[in-house]
Amino acid sequence: MSGFFDPHIHMYSRTTDDYDAMSKAGIEVIVQPSFWLGGPRTFVGTFIDYWEHLISFETTRAKQFGIEHFVCISVNPKESVQRPLALDALHAMLKFIDRERVVAIGEIGYNLINELEEEIFIKQLEIASTKKIPIMIHLPHQNKIKGIEKIDEILNQNGNKYDRKKILIDHNTEETIKKTLEMGLWAGLSVYPLTKLSPKRAMDIIRKNGSDSIMINSAADWGISDPLSVPLVAREMRKEGFRKNEIEKVTMINAYDFYKQSNKFTWKPQVQ
Ligand SMILES: [Zn+2]
Repeated sequence: MSGFFDPHIHMYSRTTDDYDAMSKAGIEVIVQPSFWLGGPRTFVGTFIDYWEHLISFETTRAKQFGIEHFVCISVNPKESVQRPLALDALHAMLKFIDRERVVAIGEIGYNLINELEEEIFIKQLEIASTKKIPIMIHLPHQNKIKGIEKIDEILNQNGNKYDRKKILIDHNTEETIKKTLEMGLWAGLSVYPLTKLSPKRAMDIIRKNGSDSIMINSAADWGISDPLSVPLVAREMRKEGFRKNEIEKVTMINAYDFYKQSNKFTWKPQVQ
């Protein structure tokens, strides 16, 4: 198997030149989760237009470069504290879940870690488990340990209600990776200049924790970020002497195995 899968990238904030470079670097498939747009939303229609844009326009834009594009929808943690807007948005979200290309609910979780965020987080876990669809949870940028502990608590409180094979925790670091894997969840590593992991830190994590259940993503967005993080890590791993199958697992196969659990994830790797 060759080619790359970036399972977390916000193309909404990226240019057409990025799509061009990504396709030339071998990225074949991407997942775009819902995120915070940089400022507070003022009415529920902005969520509706945003989700529609992701599903329709971005899928078409990606296709022009031979990239298959899928979407996760959610009310983002940063948006969940605004009431009643967050609850109205959750209601509006329901009719988007069954749309083509919508493969998971995400990203959800915590930002500041408070009760309002938790309420919307749990409501979205509930929706996903009722619909039996994958869930993409992100760890807060600060207080990651507290974040993963809260997530663990919520999953444990609810027994086996949530299918752990269908849950991906993203933005892991050295502090959280062990716990995420012990919890039986998939783990994302965001390789992102300055504020998240460098390729070297990601490789050290993979060396210590193995390549099972771990996937690299760029989390590229409005910030100083790199939409080529996934092929970049593949190159660095090759230079460091990682085996081909380990590189493929973290840059393609694990993300594929996670997202293929959605029946709307229609992309398949080409087998010669
Ligand atoms: Zn993100």
